[in-house]
Amino acid sequence: MNVKALYNLYKQHPLITTDSRNCPTGSIFIALKGTSFDGNKFAKSALDKGCSYAIIDEKEYAIDGDDRFIVVDDCLVAYKEIAREHRRQFHIPVVGITGTNGKTTTKELLSAVLAEKFNVMHTEGNFNNDVGVPQTLLRLNADHQMAVVEMGASHVGDIKKLVDYVEPTCGLITNVGRAHLQGFGSFEGVMRAKGELYDFLKAHQALTFLNTDNEYLMAMAHERGLERIVSYGQDAMAQVRGEVVSCEPFLRFKWAAAMATSLHDETTYEVTTHLIGTYNLDNMLAAIAVGLHFGVSPQQICHALESYTPANNRSQLMETAKNHVIVDAYNANPTSMSAAIDNFKRIHVAQPKMAILGDMRELGDVSKVEHQKIVDMLKVSGFDKVWLVGEEFGKTDSPFRKFNNVDEVKKAIATDTPNGWYILVKGSNGIHLAELTKEL
Ligand code: ATP
Ligand code: MG
Repeated sequence: MNVKALYNLYKQHPLITTDSRNCPTGSIFIALKGTSFDGNKFAKSALDKGCSYAIIDEKEYAIDGDDRFIVVDDCLVAYKEIAREHRRQFHIPVVGITGTNGKTTTKELLSAVLAEKFNVMHTEGNFNNDVGVPQTLLRLNADHQMAVVEMGASHVGDIKKLVDYVEPTCGLITNVGRAHLQGFGSFEGVMRAKGELYDFLKAHQALTFLNTDNEYLMAMAHERGLERIVSYGQDAMAQVRGEVVSCEPFLRFKWAAAMATSLHDETTYEVTTHLIGTYNLDNMLAAIAVGLHFGVSPQQICHALESYTPANNRSQLMETAKNHVIVDAYNANPTSMSAAIDNFKRIHVAQPKMAILGDMRELGDVSKVEHQKIVDMLKVSGFDKVWLVGEEFGKTDSPFRKFNNVDEVKKAIATDTPNGWYILVKGSNGIHLAELTKEL
């Protein structure tokens, strides 16, 4: 069956499931494969449970004569092609976001800004991979006026594959940093991979929002000869400029814009956010630049940014009965870890400070060196207490208390409970540090 025919089938049955445990009547089941499962094996049961069709790519799972089985070469490709066909029905601006850190935060901030003026469809949560992106595109409907799509990558080529389906009409790379080095091979690999978004934008003469403070992004933009640019950053030449006013502990910042498209005035606006982390200034400025470009007023922008409160373990401050806990336990890599430590140092508070930090995963060969660099940074941080959790931190040369896992930390908290502290909790999701918020 070709793409058009698949899409026609989807239009008659506009609900797709990839989970055989959830098979709404009349939906289409697509048999995806994972490292430990093969959806083809569940195609028959999906039909028994109520799906109208099952798209499979292993023909031996089809039952002869049963035309509810549709055999394709590759189910994931079929899924993405249906999603692209669907996306092409809507002639609306689609903002593509990728980068090492801050994609979800920028996506959330930008969606909040655009929602002041438009009906926006945006990636839910962190659905930014091969499966999440088509799922996102399929949520588009005729009421939407704009879309914001997060795209993640852990290998060179991942973003190319995603942008070819998302077909963003403009986009931005939040930053490039040292993450997923195992998959990318090196930092150059990260730059090549994220740069695939710029390649697409350049080829389609689409607009790029560019953080001019970031030397790597500048080099990548220059290398590709990107011309249609809206710049943002702390740099005085940027079209949207901003600077940190304070972080006590929430980020407060000033911004002004000189954009040909919508705003000429030199008014300076000040925003008090509900986000921890000076690094969030970049995410805020990105949202402002895109918002202004699409005609959201400065007042609406400030309102959206001031109202945004994270609830996703990213840059979040939790006031518990005992402590002030900065929960940033959603992910960690050397760039975001050093940014978090740096920010924690800059926060002016009277209470003592404690950092509970977990391993940064997926760093491959450089893991040991990168963990040691973080320990060396902590040695001069001046924090009152530092606890390190996980195997990789365990291997470092460090004066700090070490734990093998989060359960050991919980036991330690039970006997040595911090009270009245500012506590930074950060590590890769796999270390499960978010569980500590209950004990702290
Ligand atoms: P993922 O790759 O898991 O989708 P992401 O790119 O979507 O991550 P976020 O979820 O927005 O990133 O943020 C994750 C963490 O990265 C934050 O909690 C914060 O510690 C850090 N971070 C966010 N923005 C920046 C930034 N601009 N620079 C450095 N670190 C950042
Ligand atoms: Mg994300």
